[in-house]
Amino acid sequence: MPELPEVETIARGLAKRVTGDVIDSVWLGRKKEPLKSPAAAIASTLENSRIAAVRRMGKHIVFDLDRPQPAPQPANGRRAKPEPANSQWIVHLGMTGRMQLCEPQAEIEKHTHAILKLSSGRELRFVDPRRFGRLSVTTSAEFAGLEPLEIDLDRFISLFRRRKTPIKSALLNQKLLRGVGNIYADESLFRAGIRPRRRASTISRDQFTKLHRSVKEVLQEAIARGGSSISDYVDADGEAGFFQLEHRVYGRDGEPCLVCRTPIKRVVIAGRSSHFCPNCQN
Ligand SMILES: [Zn+2]
Repeated sequence: MPELPEVETIARGLAKRVTGDVIDSVWLGRKKEPLKSPAAAIASTLENSRIAAVRRMGKHIVFDLDRPQPAPQPANGRRAKPEPANSQWIVHLGMTGRMQLCEPQAEIEKHTHAILKLSSGRELRFVDPRRFGRLSVTTSAEFAGLEPLEIDLDRFISLFRRRKTPIKSALLNQKLLRGVGNIYADESLFRAGIRPRRRASTISRDQFTKLHRSVKEVLQEAIARGGSSISDYVDADGEAGFFQLEHRVYGRDGEPCLVCRTPIKRVVIAGRSSHFCPNCQN
């Protein structure tokens, strides 16, 4: 499942390739699940819009759209109904969703749910075999939670310090920070020396300072690794083989800690498996 760093990488790759392009027409498949907004609304918002920017918000890809200047109205003509000047197309990749940028003659893959014809001649397609991905349009893209890469230390501490829940659960709570997934939470806690089950309210300011730094570090390292594989996500025959951060604890239960050789433990917290070193983390 694409996590924040993967989505950031994909959004950057798309931004480089499609910013400034205009969406000439839109085809949407018959399957209803991928369409979070009505098909007609998606089509009318996207068609004739210019892609002004592509960015990530949480685990969503947001396309900022604007309308090229309307043609001058004839003096006696009726005014056309004004379109909203700025809107957003929001793509959530779900488990298996993929954006494909390709030439129109490229074979249309099974499980293609949307095809945007761009004025540059290329097509931007959304492919999703398992259909947990979602496409929607809005004029006010907003998501709960704060961006983990942007949050400052004081706000970070204030999010967590009164919480009685395990810090691991708090890190995964999308209403607090958006986009931190299971792997990145475990890796951040290891680097900060905090056990995943520690109640957030018992963590010292010093430890929060480390955690604040390690969350950003872990995400930024993963984004940096993704930089070289951007084309995989958006090219015609891209595979979904995501780059990976070198895990220090995640998925290594029973293996020796890379720092102290103590076997890594695995526990389940709020239904999610959590990995930690019983010696390095407390
Ligand atoms: Zn250790």
